[in-house]
Amino acid sequence: VLIHAEYAWLGASTVTGGVAVEVEDGTIVSVGGSTNKTADVTLGGILIPGTVSAHSHAFHRRLRGRTQGEGGDFWAWREAMYRLAADLTPEAYEDLAAVVFGEMLRSGITAVGEFHYLHHQPDGTPYLEPNMMGMALVRAAERSGIRLTLIDALYLTSGADGAPPLPDQTRFSDGGIEAWEERARAMASLVQGKPTVALGVAAHSVRAATPNDLARVADLASDLDLPLHIHISEQPAENDECLAAHGVTPTGLLAATGFLSERTTLVHATHTSANDRELISGSGAGVCLCPTTEADLGDGIGPAAEYAASGVPLSLGSDSNAVIDIFEEMRRVEHHDRLRLGRRGVHQPGDLLRAATVGGMRALGWADGGIITAGAPADLVVVDPDSDDLHGIDEDNAVAAIALAATRASVTDVLVNGEHVVRDGSLATSS
Ligand SMILES: [Zn+2]
Repeated sequence: VLIHAEYAWLGASTVTGGVAVEVEDGTIVSVGGSTNKTADVTLGGILIPGTVSAHSHAFHRRLRGRTQGEGGDFWAWREAMYRLAADLTPEAYEDLAAVVFGEMLRSGITAVGEFHYLHHQPDGTPYLEPNMMGMALVRAAERSGIRLTLIDALYLTSGADGAPPLPDQTRFSDGGIEAWEERARAMASLVQGKPTVALGVAAHSVRAATPNDLARVADLASDLDLPLHIHISEQPAENDECLAAHGVTPTGLLAATGFLSERTTLVHATHTSANDRELISGSGAGVCLCPTTEADLGDGIGPAAEYAASGVPLSLGSDSNAVIDIFEEMRRVEHHDRLRLGRRGVHQPGDLLRAATVGGMRALGWADGGIITAGAPADLVVVDPDSDDLHGIDEDNAVAAIALAATRASVTDVLVNGEHVVRDGSLATSS
């Protein structure tokens, strides 16, 4: 298929006019200037790589509006989230995720990392098919047409001291590291051969795993060559708990257990010390920022500028999905740093777009993705320069306008793996 785009962002500081993108079997095979060949598809507007939510819990979407107005802290919010998790069946989980993934696609998100820990029946008994809940997410992704990395998270303890799961956490737990590993390996077989589904693994947090568990999860990621994720230092209380139990910060514990490497993505990493950040940048690990969720939950403003300055690869996540708009996540990375540091232009617009695209694909194990170039998956999004957000912009400042002024309302068309899944703002599939 030959696509002709009026403009495209090819990674430079400006957009390029008249770009031909040739796609075969879901992969971009060539990118060039205007061609004599007749285009199969003509896309008006600005073509950008598909954006990525590298950290999502689809089921939290149901809390939208139901907790935003409440008081309390992160831990009070967590109670509400646990009540929601208690009665979700595989069918309800799939339907809810399909709706969320549809919303993501219409907003220009072409790939999602689902951080999945809702594994078992409410009393902790495995389903007949132990990966029934994970497969519900896979089916939801296939129904909606989004690219999915299912990140299977281990959740065995209720604190850094190794205490057993709370009653509300029973369905998250496999009961032991061996059982988790066996189920995760089975999940790898279940998704094998699916062109738009991949597997990642995670430990939920240093609160949910012992040091030995962390080492075992990292070993499995290495053994199967999978992305490795973890929530880290979202709240100061987690740091205190980890220091009390292990005498090191959460990041220090990851370094000591072999969890930090180039395959690792640290979600949030909000409350890290300078020493933590040295460990992170030295290891090649990336950081996934979730600014709208971190703001909603009162987590704090993370040191994005410090990570960027030391070369830590950044990605973005919609996390709780109280808001699904990766353009807003991009903008907030810059705006939070402006508010924190008292200066402007902390992150270059192109770098914000890279966090939302190539950074996300890297975090989710799609190594060549997130850029419009030969060899990349054909995940593409069109933003309308005549939208309310963008009308009147110039070619020269289009990249800044997309990163700092656009919203999901500017998205008109979306392609995933070469399939045209959103046309003129509407989903082509029925989810
Ligand atoms: Zn999360």
